Amino acid sequence: MTASRLQADFIVAGATLIDGSGGPARQGDLAVLDGRIAAVGAFEHPAGAPVVDGRGRVLAPGFIDSHTHDDGYLLAHPDMLPKVSQGITTVVTGNCGISLAPLARAEIPQPLDLLGPAPLFRYGTFRAWTDALRDTPAAVNVVPLVGHTTLRVAVMEDTSRAADGGERAAMRELLEEALDAGAFGVSTGTFYPPASAAPTDEIIDVCAPLRGRPGVYATHLRDEADHIVPAMEEALLIGRELGCRVVFSHHKLAGERNHGRSRETLDLISRAAATQPVCLDCHPYPATSTMLRLDRARLASRTMITWSKGYPQATGRDFGEVMAELGLDDEAAIARLAPAGAIYFLMDPADVNRIFAHPLTMVGSDGLPFDPHPHPRQWGTFTNVLRTLVRERRLLSLEAAIHKMTGLAADQYGIAGRGRLREGYHADLVLFDPATVTDVATFSAPIQASHGIQAVWVNGKRVWDGERTGAERPGQVLAPGDALSRSE
Ligand SMILES: [Zn+2]
Repeated sequence: MTASRLQADFIVAGATLIDGSGGPARQGDLAVLDGRIAAVGAFEHPAGAPVVDGRGRVLAPGFIDSHTHDDGYLLAHPDMLPKVSQGITTVVTGNCGISLAPLARAEIPQPLDLLGPAPLFRYGTFRAWTDALRDTPAAVNVVPLVGHTTLRVAVMEDTSRAADGGERAAMRELLEEALDAGAFGVSTGTFYPPASAAPTDEIIDVCAPLRGRPGVYATHLRDEADHIVPAMEEALLIGRELGCRVVFSHHKLAGERNHGRSRETLDLISRAAATQPVCLDCHPYPATSTMLRLDRARLASRTMITWSKGYPQATGRDFGEVMAELGLDDEAAIARLAPAGAIYFLMDPADVNRIFAHPLTMVGSDGLPFDPHPHPRQWGTFTNVLRTLVRERRLLSLEAAIHKMTGLAADQYGIAGRGRLREGYHADLVLFDPATVTDVATFSAPIQASHGIQAVWVNGKRVWDGERTGAERPGQVLAPGDALSRSE
């Protein structure tokens, strides 16, 4: 493109460009036209185009949150404040086996309630939900997965057993519909009751429509504690059988007796990567969060209650303190609080660092957006990485961290035309101050926007100005294989 013909809706000038490839930062400008990157680097500015001052700031591709539970939140809170305020421009939904669709049901079992209140579950087909997102778009783009647990709950009366032939066929049909409607793959969560009775062959059987398609198989493993290795081997087998990429979700080693074993599990992932496509995601905190469960509470050094229907005054408090107040042991207290959610401090920070540093690790918040007292990861994952792992501990270079948040995730999920600062790519962009950018959300005060993210654009429209969200809702439901070729 010659300088004289360049047009732009706006230009970010004088920024440190970190392009998402993992390559070194360079100084330069970037021009945006019609939602796409029109020029990057050094070019003559077209007359009259507004200029955003990028001096002293980093301009990077918008961050891709590789692991979310935002399926319903996108519709209920389309400004997506917790996400855009930390630089996120695309969310991968439907993880851990639980997607909002396809399921229209007045009552929903745990853990589906992690996605929000039951009235959100009103989409009997996957397309009904993606259509709703297209009719009332959110501020961020969506990469949707469909959950195997959701399919089970939609099809089976009794989820405490393996699915029979007819039920498997019915689930396959729902999956086929979801893939035709644009799902990027399937997730499973055999850790959770509605899917824990599903044997390996049921998953392979149900997921057969993935064969021959570019989708991923993302899994919350059956076991993240003592029996993690067989659980990983099961996932790798399923990936090979289906011929698709395995995404190890929120990779972790739970419980003190498993601390340090990330050496073993990462070695297994590296060896597997030599023969089949695999990757993983994680967040930077040493605590996890899900429904309140006895096994998790017993593995954790500390458990905090994030919500409770049975005993709402437990919200935000230490589980040990609540047990003492009720005069109950852990099992009886869980029964009293149920249904409930919790944060569990059960990871070793050294494992978290080691997992983060692995070259196939992407960044996924795994946040639970409707929790009254959520894990701070929903509001702070990406800025926490930039503060703690890049600036304070120097575990990762800024370029490497941004690659995990952008180009790597785009490559692993097959998100075309995003994740890099490249001419012709969609203009999902984040501008921030690398010296001051920081998370603010903490375990005691988790609902707080990050500081230091100065501007965020999605498809060329500004959705965050450093203090508040914009009026625009430019997010798109992305489709697998959405090619750049339309413009190239
Ligand atoms: Zn999970």
